[in-house]
Order: sequence, then C-alpha cells, then structure tokens
Amino acid sequence: MKKIVLKPGREKSLKRHHPWIFSGAINPVKVPLEMGETVEIVNSHGEFLARAACSPKSQIFARVWSFNKNEEITPEFLRRRLENALSRRLRIAQKTSAFRVVFSESDGLPGVIVDKYDSYLVVQLLTAGAEYWKETIFSLLEEVVPCDGIYERSDADVREKEGLPKRAGLVLGKQPPEYIEIHENECRFLVDVCSGHKTGFYIDQRENRRILIDYVKGAELLNCFSYTGGFGICALHYGAEKVANIDSSAQALRLVDKIVELNGMKPENVENVEGNVFQLLREYRQQGRDFDVIVLDPPKFIESAGQVKKAGRAYKDINMLAMQLLRPGGFLFTFSCSGLLAPELFQKIVAYAALDAGKNIHIIRRLAQAEDHPVALNFPEAGYLKGLLCQAAD
Ligand code: SAH
Repeated sequence: MKKIVLKPGREKSLKRHHPWIFSGAINPVKVPLEMGETVEIVNSHGEFLARAACSPKSQIFARVWSFNKNEEITPEFLRRRLENALSRRLRIAQKTSAFRVVFSESDGLPGVIVDKYDSYLVVQLLTAGAEYWKETIFSLLEEVVPCDGIYERSDADVREKEGLPKRAGLVLGKQPPEYIEIHENECRFLVDVCSGHKTGFYIDQRENRRILIDYVKGAELLNCFSYTGGFGICALHYGAEKVANIDSSAQALRLVDKIVELNGMKPENVENVEGNVFQLLREYRQQGRDFDVIVLDPPKFIESAGQVKKAGRAYKDINMLAMQLLRPGGFLFTFSCSGLLAPELFQKIVAYAALDAGKNIHIIRRLAQAEDHPVALNFPEAGYLKGLLCQAAD
C-alpha cells in the first residue's frame, strides 16, 4: 500500500482521530495515485497513523477509514461499518419509515450517505473514496438493509470538488414509484426520490417538527422555505388552524397539495405561495399580516468560509422580518443548516435581528439535527443544523 508522509508536526488532528488530512499537511507525493485508493498515512518518522481514501483533486487530500493498524480496508470492513450504522438506528426505524441509515464520517464511512424511505434506499456517494468502493457498497447495502430497490442521487455539487461527475439513477432492484409514501410523527408524506432535493426529504428536521407540535394548536403558521410542507403538514395535523407555505420551487409546492390530500386535510386551510421569502416577508409586513408561529428553514447560505459575512446579513434580514410578523407571545422556529456558521454566531445574528426588529425576544429552546444524523465527537463538523425556538416576549 502506498504511504503518504505527513509534514513534521502535522499529525495532531489525526492523533485526536479527526478523519481529514488536508493537502497542505502532506509531503509531495511522487507516485501516481488512483482516485479513492486506500493509502497508509504515516508521520514524518514513518509511524502508522491511519488508513485513508485519497482524493487527489480535493483540498481534503484523504479521509480516514480506520485508525486501527490491524484493520484492513476490505469489503468485510465496509460490511461491519454498514451493519453497525444500521444497528444503531433500529430504535428510530420503529418510529418512522424514513431515516438516515448512514451519515458519512459520523458512521465511519466518509462520503457515504444512505437514506431509507419505506422500502427503498437512496444513496449519495460524495467522495473519491466512496466512489472507489461503489460497487461493493451497493451490493453490501442490498444484503445488509432489506429493501426493494437502491436509487443513487450522487448529483450533489460537492462531487465536483472531488473531481467526480454527477450521477443519478436506479442501481439495484425495483425502480421506486414517482412518490414514495412515508410516515413521520403520525403524518403521511410523499417523497420524490428521483427529482426531489438531496435524497428527497429533509429527514434531519424530524425532531424539530415533533417539537413544533406543542406550539400549534389553533395557530396560524407561516412556513418559510417550506419545500414539500414538512412543518406545515405536521402543524395542521396537530391542530393548527391555517398554514401558509412559501417556497421558490413550484414543484415542491405542487407536492404539498398532494400531501394535504393524502392526509385528508382541508385545502382551504393551506395557502401555498411560490416566491422569494426575502421579498414576500416585506410585502406581508406592508400588508400588516401577522402570525402565531413562524418557521424559517432556509437552504444552506454558506458553502465556503468567505461567504459567512454575506450570509450573516441574509440570516439577519429574514429573522428581523419574521420577528416583525410575529404576534405578541408568538413563536419563531429559526434554523441554519450552514455547517460553517457556528451556533454562537447564529445566536448573535438572531439577537441583532431582534434589535433591528425592535422586539424583545427570548430563546426558549435550542434545536439541532435529528438523532439519525449523529455527531461523532471526533468530527464536530457533522453538526450542521442548528436552530432556536424563540418567543416574542411582549
Ligand atoms: N423546511 C423544509 C426544508 C427546507 S429546504 C422541510 O422541512 O422539508 C429549503 C427550501 O428553500 C427549498 O425547498 C428551496 O426551494 C427553498 N428556497 C431557497 N431559496 C428560497 C427563497 N429565496 N425563497 C423561497 N424559497 C427558497
């Protein structure tokens, strides 16, 4: 196996079992490397540190498979990791028919995302290492996770940073139906795994939708960045009077109508507005509209560290507007799924938003991603979704 030698003093993060090796930390590599092949990482004295998959085109030069010298990277190794990931989710599988089976580095499988929707698996392979093992991973998944079909959605932009082409399509078994029906928190949803966002549904918000239940009885809810209506459907099921969903995707909103019907809800209680949240919230403010509960779940505004400042202004803007539309005593569920935005900074931005809105706002709960998206302690970057449940205090 080819050896990659770290520059002197660059092994600290690996000693803490952080799984990334940046290209700046290694000595120039003289041998040609295949995309995703397994390499041995050694320190400047030649001592073993880890076995890793190399991504020669990425700034993250390699991602660790194992820190154990005795562990070879083989199909058997991958099987153990997949089985472990699944066994950790058996409890969740009892509660919902849609959950994340494999969450990348947190499950010891960098670049591998597997979501289960009813009897179908949807897979994203996002790194050169995951790609290198793709045939093995697919056939192991078929054995380890009983399913009717495996559909691949390796069409995320991050593949480009790895020098990988985008790819999507059926891999094994049966083609999933146009919409897969799943259940979550006693609600039924339809998931378009072939052309929906990411793998089709934002399962990472499951527990926050559950928390929402306590705040919606009799409420009028504004669900900003609604996608296919996740928070809105849940709110209606648990007693909200009216829901307005805003999203820029007409396709997502069309699916809301179908999901409303599937749940036997009254369409007249649901207003779907196709448009830009930044603009519409201003219009609502002008019209004097207000709400009991507002959800702000924007897409990732920050892709690289350089974007934090600009994104901060965007977060502040929508939060300020939402606070101005909140009735006294009302609740704001505000989120950021940008991993590069630290929770402390997010809270500061929300605080500035309150100041500009001229509102006295309390945080009554802190929110995070669902439990099937665990954060391995050696990889804090896995914790990307943060939220604040705020109340308009007067
Ligand atoms: N809350 C949703 C997930 C939101 S994902 C759920 O629980 O399922 C973010 C959504 O924001 C996407 O559906 C995207 O289409 C939408 N979006 C992105 N930019 C937008 C904008 N400026 N105005 C309105 N919607 C936007």
